[in-house]
Amino acid sequence: MLHVMPLGDAVEHVSDDDCVCGPTAKMIKAEDGSVVWLMIHHSLDGREITEGHQGES
Ligand SMILES: [Zn+2]
Repeated sequence: MLHVMPLGDAVEHVSDDDCVCGPTAKMIKAEDGSVVWLMIHHSLDGREITEGHQGES
């Protein structure tokens, strides 16, 4: 499984599906019919999720 992580994020991501950001699995189907799963990690620096910690503003 491929992991897509935000660069320079405020939190440290791990290449696992139990990462702190709660990554979302996304299925990509290639032209030859093969299926690739992407694990999309979410930025926790405030762009998407505001739960947990605040205080930058
Ligand atoms: Zn993550």
